[in-house]
Amino acid sequence: MIPYGKQNITDEDIAAVIETLKSPFLTSGPKVAEFEAAFAKYIGCKYAVAVANGTAALHISCMALGVKPSSKVITTPITFSASANCVRYCGGEVVFADINQETVLLDIEKVRNLLNQHPKGTFEGIIPVDFAGYPVDLEAFRKLADEFGLWILEDSCHAPGGSFVDSIGKNHRCGDGSLADLAIFSFHPVKHIATGEGGMVTTNDEELYKKLKQFRSHGMIYQGDPALIENHGGWYMELQELGYNYRMPDVLCNLGISQLKRAEEGLEKRQVIAKRYNGAFAGTKVKIIIPPANVSHAYHLYVIQIEDRKGLYDFLRTKQIYAQVHYIPVHLMPYYKGLGSKAGDFPNAEKYYEHCLSIPIYPTLTEEEQEFVISEILGFVK
Ligand SMILES: *Cc1c(COP(=O)(O)O)cnc(C)c1O
Repeated sequence: MIPYGKQNITDEDIAAVIETLKSPFLTSGPKVAEFEAAFAKYIGCKYAVAVANGTAALHISCMALGVKPSSKVITTPITFSASANCVRYCGGEVVFADINQETVLLDIEKVRNLLNQHPKGTFEGIIPVDFAGYPVDLEAFRKLADEFGLWILEDSCHAPGGSFVDSIGKNHRCGDGSLADLAIFSFHPVKHIATGEGGMVTTNDEELYKKLKQFRSHGMIYQGDPALIENHGGWYMELQELGYNYRMPDVLCNLGISQLKRAEEGLEKRQVIAKRYNGAFAGTKVKIIIPPANVSHAYHLYVIQIEDRKGLYDFLRTKQIYAQVHYIPVHLMPYYKGLGSKAGDFPNAEKYYEHCLSIPIYPTLTEEEQEFVISEILGFVK
């Protein structure tokens, strides 16, 4: 059986988990800060906050950015629904804008139109997604956001290690805090770095960083923090805001530290597989997405677009190749339809959904398996 994505757990990973299981701390111990520091270094940002999962990362990010019931936030319909749901957790309104057909990313021109059609101040923020691992052009989004006084929360779940070179030749890694206010990552098993459950928020903004740490642990302020209003003694802590228990356990943080050591190697393997697929599908009926030279794609997913998507999906399953569809447009989910969106609202996203299929890509996918996937797909579309 060949799935579309798969984690890779080594003996070192297992040893790291056991080491922490035998330590005094199962959660909220030294491995949390160690993982945060290592992750921040890898991504190239100042601060990182480990949380229970990517969805929790999105939720406390929206809280830190001040999303409230009157807030309107723009995102893409082609993403995992959590990218939109986080706004709803804070009572805000999700406003979708269509994707660009070539990149499958949130179309900045559609966002610009939306902003121009409403009085300034209508929208508060944008949640662009580095879909499939293709880094969003945050240089352009930052410019637009600044023009309209918006914040940017980058959903980088698909793109740890992805990057792009901006118009003055500066390289920006996804989530490095140079252009977006906040970025988030997930360590779900199909993602680049797998801890089962886990997530991270990254930023260069100290104020946001402090809020994130507070919201991750009930909204509590602990000993040693100058923000304490009173101090009754060593036991004293203070609930200043309403937060959640979104902490990531030490056991999983140490697994994350171990996984992170192989992140660059895994990324390179994904890029090698993508290159092979690109070569095999070039000039065929299989439509592929080739990013421009200034973009380094992280290839969480390798998406193809074909005429008979359902036919190919079903056919591949008979060959034990478990391709997947990413994503059913979020605005077509019954929950969001209930809030007013409908079929026909975002034609590019809906057309993409009719034809997209994510084919297997993960670091341990063998060359033989890659060739098998290629030959079965080409055999079908011929
Ligand atoms: C995986 C994912 C999430 C959610 O992460 P979890 O850790 O599963 O909560 C959010 N956004 C995108 C784009 C994702 O792929």
